[in-house]
Amino acid sequence: MSFVDLRSDTVTRPTAEMRRAMAEAEVGDDVYGEDPTVRLLEEEGAAAMGKAAALFVPSGIMGNQIALALHAPRGSEVLCDARAHILLYEVGAMAAISGLQPHPMPSRDGLPGVEDVASAYVARGGYRVPSGVLELENTHNVAGGRAFARSRIEPLLDFARDRALPTHLDGARIFNAATALGAPASELARGFDSVMFCLSKGLGAPVGSLLCGAEDFIAEARERRRMLGGAMRQVGVLAAAGRVALRSGPSLLSADHEHARLLASAVAELPGLEIDLASVETNILIFGVRPGPGEAAGQASRWVAAARAEGILASALDASRVRLVTHRDLDRPAIERAIAAMRRIAA
Ligand SMILES: *Cc1c(COP(=O)(O)O)cnc(C)c1O
Repeated sequence: MSFVDLRSDTVTRPTAEMRRAMAEAEVGDDVYGEDPTVRLLEEEGAAAMGKAAALFVPSGIMGNQIALALHAPRGSEVLCDARAHILLYEVGAMAAISGLQPHPMPSRDGLPGVEDVASAYVARGGYRVPSGVLELENTHNVAGGRAFARSRIEPLLDFARDRALPTHLDGARIFNAATALGAPASELARGFDSVMFCLSKGLGAPVGSLLCGAEDFIAEARERRRMLGGAMRQVGVLAAAGRVALRSGPSLLSADHEHARLLASAVAELPGLEIDLASVETNILIFGVRPGPGEAAGQASRWVAAARAEGILASALDASRVRLVTHRDLDRPAIERAIAAMRRIAA
């Protein structure tokens, strides 16, 4: 049985065009700065974010962690949303590697308000832990792929700028945000000191992310990447796929968003499941599994197991909630198969 894989947009396989580009890529030793394909990708990625320079990194996590380490001195705090990827899914890297402690700020939909940042902020020079960097996520993964418009980001950036607090954007899915908001990605990245985005999520590349920022920041990031063991040699074979993803991926995301809305509408009509339709803005949907008779809480893992038996791969976000993610390897018939399967599970 071939599964409809809704676990993540990381599961996409490289397309024929990507594989061709990989096979034909011009390469050199990137540690000597001699890989022309990597250089092109870095230029194109920086331009897409409206930044001066970019660095190809093996993963989004490495890009985020390099940025946090460079922006925030050891012993300072990372101000971030309480459900941020850097906090929940990066294996404690900021503490373990960079001597940073998180300052989680609760939020309704993944973006803290300026009053939350103001009450979390601590200036340097006192006896409390100083703030080292403000980190935001757009789209926000665990909040359900929420996309935050410029008008909501601006006051946060103004607050940080007024206090010379550096800012980093985890834009793993910034092109999904741009698509949902009808704004260029560079507009959403504007004003951040650094932005990381993934080629390997919805854009469809097999490997890689880009960390973007000012020239001197990226020069330091290059050194830090090497410290982490992330400097690579003839890596143009991967950058070539990334270039195809960056060129062709963004325009395909609106179909993924449409597919997520279709799935969400189906979920909304099923007994035993609950979803806030208005929260489904991009390619991620999160729904609750209602407790069965005599159960104290919904059992997301049981729903996920039932889905698997029906040919659908999903992930349990926590004990009672399930996350589905659409991506470019799923066409409309696959989504319809998933909907039919969900109806069978409910029945
Ligand atoms: C996937 C993801 C990352 C990290 O990406 P990897 O390439 O898996 O390291 C960072 N932030 C967010 C919001 C993500 O969804």
